[in-house]
Amino acid sequence: MATVKEQLLENLVAEDKVSQSKITIVGSGSVGMACAICILMKDLADELALVDVSVDKLKGEMMDLQHGSLFFNTPKIVSGKDYKVSENSKLVIVTAGAKQNKGENRLDMVHRNVAIMKSIIPPIVRYSPDCKMLIVSNPVDILTYVVWKISGLPHTRVIGSGCNLDSARFRYLIGEKLGVHSTSCHGWIIGEHGDSSVPLWSGVNIAGVPLKSLHPDLGTDSDKEQWKNIHKEVVESGYEIMRLKGYTSWAIALSVTDLAGSILKNLRRVHPVSTNVKGMYGIKEDIFLSIPCVLERNGISDIVKVNLNSQEEALFKKSANILWNVQKDLVF
Ligand code: NAD
Repeated sequence: MATVKEQLLENLVAEDKVSQSKITIVGSGSVGMACAICILMKDLADELALVDVSVDKLKGEMMDLQHGSLFFNTPKIVSGKDYKVSENSKLVIVTAGAKQNKGENRLDMVHRNVAIMKSIIPPIVRYSPDCKMLIVSNPVDILTYVVWKISGLPHTRVIGSGCNLDSARFRYLIGEKLGVHSTSCHGWIIGEHGDSSVPLWSGVNIAGVPLKSLHPDLGTDSDKEQWKNIHKEVVESGYEIMRLKGYTSWAIALSVTDLAGSILKNLRRVHPVSTNVKGMYGIKEDIFLSIPCVLERNGISDIVKVNLNSQEEALFKKSANILWNVQKDLVF
């Protein structure tokens, strides 16, 4: 007796199981699931895989997303504890990690999350040797270095979400102060994601008009308008959101999805993401910090050479030293 499917459909082609734009998200917590929904709503993937150690939560999240299939265009959503589900990914987004406790800074979490990366990265590479990896877990710059080392992948394919979020917060706050939408407020934050990040005040502009040319004290201590507080707010806002709601999720997920879009759609847009800066600005070690990078289908194809003034360069080096002091003692 023919099944309903056999009676209804005259099958003409063998099923093509190889996806073209598969994304895997490792870690189905607050950040991972916010990334998942943003990626689905943007139609970036033809297959989405979720991996986590928390099996029931993972299955529940997968089912909940699958039941929304009518409302987006990603035909396959899978999940599992076994990394087999991640096979043939074009992009793997790593959000797994120990939760940042209230009052804990990003560097405090390093040892717990290095141990987690040691278990995650080898199977990812085994199942998707050609993937790009986007690291979100904190401390993101150090973990991007750790993942690069463990994975054996070229550093151009291991990217830290870095200051993409910090720069988005910066542009939002500049926009609020000026009453102009953040997409028209151009400004870059480089260096460490978080506490020692470096705002490039000299480059802040609206429609090509540098705010420094209107107000030379911009971003300095002597500034009567106290623009410097905007950077302070960028640094503190992650902790403030953690204090208020327990975690951060929406802005980081939107910013990660923006990066994923540049990679999967080969857009060659420039983003401030974390990459190996050895040899730049006098840095001698393998340290990952954010600088403007061109993102395309192979990962980072180019770095934009930003001429830093002496103060910016000193702050960038300070960022590097802070990370190196933690990184140099890591054993993995
Ligand atoms: P969360 O606790 O909600 O989720 C973490 C998930 O990782 C959990 O579901 C947990 O089960 C899973 N996990 C733990 N160990 C694992 C392992 N060995 N293999 C697979 N999965 C594992 O935390 P969250 O709020 O989603 O944050 C996740 C990470 O993202 C944290 O490190 C956080 O600091 C970081 N984060 C980074 C940024 C950024 O800008 N880079 C912004 C926000 C959060």
